[in-house]
Amino acid sequence: MAIDLHLHSTASDGSLTPAELVELVARQRLETVALTDHDTLDGIDEAREAAQRLGVELIPGTELSLEFDGGMHLLVLWLEPGPGPLQDRLEWLRDGRDERNRAILDALSRHGIEITPEELAAQAGGGTVGRPHIAALLMQKGYVASIAQAFELWLARGRPAYVERPRLAPAEAIDLARRSGGVPVLAHPHTLGITTAADMSKLLHELVDAGLAGLEAIYGAYHRHEHEGYADLARRFGLVPTGGSDFHGDYKPGLQPGTGYGDLYVSRDVVDRLKERAA
Ligand code: AMP
Ligand code: ZN
Ligand code: FE
Ligand code: FE
Repeated sequence: MAIDLHLHSTASDGSLTPAELVELVARQRLETVALTDHDTLDGIDEAREAAQRLGVELIPGTELSLEFDGGMHLLVLWLEPGPGPLQDRLEWLRDGRDERNRAILDALSRHGIEITPEELAAQAGGGTVGRPHIAALLMQKGYVASIAQAFELWLARGRPAYVERPRLAPAEAIDLARRSGGVPVLAHPHTLGITTAADMSKLLHELVDAGLAGLEAIYGAYHRHEHEGYADLARRFGLVPTGGSDFHGDYKPGLQPGTGYGDLYVSRDVVDRLKERAA
């Protein structure tokens, strides 16, 4: 019975609805999954209804992009929809995206690429709108051959249509998560852009002091030696080594829930240890 603590649906930039996603993981015999859509809990109710019907354990959550040079993502697990310190900030984050997305479309337009706000809204289908939706439109219109190429040519940091947006600072986000009953986990640490062990230690000290509970040591895109390095780091800092696929459906081709690119494995023990950190 597999476990996956990092999944996206149409509530943000995944291509399956929350119910379709839970139906897929039930068919694949997953026992526990976390829905972690960007800056929103809007998919949770639908996912939970499907999970109860199909006998899957659903952990409600979200994924936040934080202020950090290389790019830092935080998963917040066991965050319930409704009012709360972090919940109340999510709308502000989504508003910041809307402004950023308009600026991205303007930048593309200056390069002769026309995507209308209406086309983007239709592509996103009512959920949190993100760069993968813009990437999909660039592909549909024939400007790029893949989502990955849309990022490489236009949308990634440093490319012509990259635009910043408001983010929470790491310690602030971790504190808000804690005060909202959530369990904060540092997502896919390889994207931090940190190259030395000393810099990684310094950062983890700060985040652990702020209340970080877990480190995503097991990830869809890792090789075995990366798992082991991050699991070791988690152990040294008293963090739970969590894991997930970061499944996005068609927006990240090749990944499967539970198994990632084939060899992802998250043990029951990880969920039990994270639950202990929820208090
Ligand atoms: P946004 O939150 O709108 O800035 O978009 C960030 C999302 O885009 C990430 O969570 C990933 O799902 C996706 N993404 C970021 N970089 C890439 C890339 N190089 N290739 C494909 N998808 C990416
Ligand atoms: Zn995403
Ligand atoms: Fe992420
Ligand atoms: Fe993600």
